Amino acid sequence: MPFSVSWTGEHTDISQLYVRTDHKGVPGLAYRDERPEDRDRHGVLWARMTWAPGSGKPRFADMHPLRQRDAMLLKLCQVCGKPADRTREGWLFLEARGEHMANLPDPSAPYQGCTSKPPVCSGCAQLAARMCPHLGDPVAFRSRKPLLWGAFGGVYIPNRVGRLIPRAQDDHLPYGRTNATRWFLANQLITELTKCTPVTL
Ligand SMILES: [Zn+2]
Repeated sequence: MPFSVSWTGEHTDISQLYVRTDHKGVPGLAYRDERPEDRDRHGVLWARMTWAPGSGKPRFADMHPLRQRDAMLLKLCQVCGKPADRTREGWLFLEARGEHMANLPDPSAPYQGCTSKPPVCSGCAQLAARMCPHLGDPVAFRSRKPLLWGAFGGVYIPNRVGRLIPRAQDDHLPYGRTNATRWFLANQLITELTKCTPVTL
């Protein structure tokens, strides 16, 4: 069962989302019944999604915010959820060619860049390279130093009557941008892969 993906039986829940004014008078997104786990260490608010892996059909294009975040932080295989493959050259990653470079293109280091896709174990990497049509022409590589870069998610802006309006396009948020963080609702953790080496599966 694909570990990181979301399922058609799981649903995003923004019913508790509202504009809260903090003790300095600065407004921003919050949940009415906010719990500590709703924010990450950088103060970014995370999208809530119900937890029912296996119910309905997998949505391969949409990862579950919590499972994706866990897989990234704990270096779990995005497919089976077991520890990702690691050697002296680092953790194993698999990408459609060129995709992971979307954010920080660097022609001198073609395997380096930002990704929302957690690492993989070697068994799943081989299976995925053969079976996943959306990977097209996959590249496998190891990263010795995957760095926490930021988040991907939605931006909400309140209108004149205080109703929250989501911006049409989701966006990337580098950690440390305090102003942008206030209106951001993360749904994926973004890792910058550095010290990369190509691998043949
Ligand atoms: Zn695996």
